[in-house]
Amino acid sequence: METVRDGDLEIVMAGPTGYGNNVFVVIDRSSGEAAFIDAPGEPDVNVAAAVAAGVNPAKILLTHGHFDHTPAIEALKKVRRPALCRWREPGLKDGQLDAAVKHGDEVKVGNLSFRVVSVPGHTPGSTTYVCGKHAFVGDTLFPGGPGRSKDNAALQQEIASITRELFALPRRHHDLAGARRHHHDRGEQAGIRGLRRQRACHRPLR
Ligand SMILES: [Zn+2]
Repeated sequence: METVRDGDLEIVMAGPTGYGNNVFVVIDRSSGEAAFIDAPGEPDVNVAAAVAAGVNPAKILLTHGHFDHTPAIEALKKVRRPALCRWREPGLKDGQLDAAVKHGDEVKVGNLSFRVVSVPGHTPGSTTYVCGKHAFVGDTLFPGGPGRSKDNAALQQEIASITRELFALPRRHHDLAGARRHHHDRGEQAGIRGLRRQRACHRPLR
C-alpha cells in the first residue's frame, strides 16, 4: 500500500487485485470523507485499503464499466455507497449505477472537488476525475500510450479524448491509471509524459 499526500488530499493505492488493477481510495483529510475510485477485484482488498487509512468511503467514482473495474461494486454498494459514472456503461448491470455525472460536473468528497472529464474511446462513457494535480484516468491511458480500445474507430476517439482533455492538463499533473499490469515502473503512473513525446507517432490507422 502506498500513500500520496497533497494538501488535504490523500491518495491510498493498494492492490493489485483482480486483473492487475490498482485500488484507489481518495481521502479529504480535512473532513475525513473518502471515496473509492472504481471497484476492482476482491471487495476485501478495497475495504482493507480504506480500513488501513482509517476511513469509510461514501462514494464509488467509476471511470468506466469494464468487468475488471466493477466486480466489487455490489459488495461495496451494500453499505449504501452510491456509484457514480457518466451513464450506463457497457458492463454495468441494472441498478449498479446510482447517479450519472456529466462532463464538467464537480463531485464532492468532503471539501475536495473531483472534476468530471469525459474521455470517450476506451469505452463510450469513460471518465477521468481530476482533483488538484491528480487525474484518475481509468484505462484511457496505459504507460506509453492509449489504453486498449475495441477497434480502430474507438482508438481514434480515445486519442482525440487524450489530446483534447488530458494533454490540456498542466504538465505537473500526475495521471493515475486503473491498471498496473502493463506498467513499466512502480505501477501508479500512466504514460502521459511518454504520450507527449510520442504524439507524433500516433497516426490515423487505416
Ligand atoms: Zn477498461
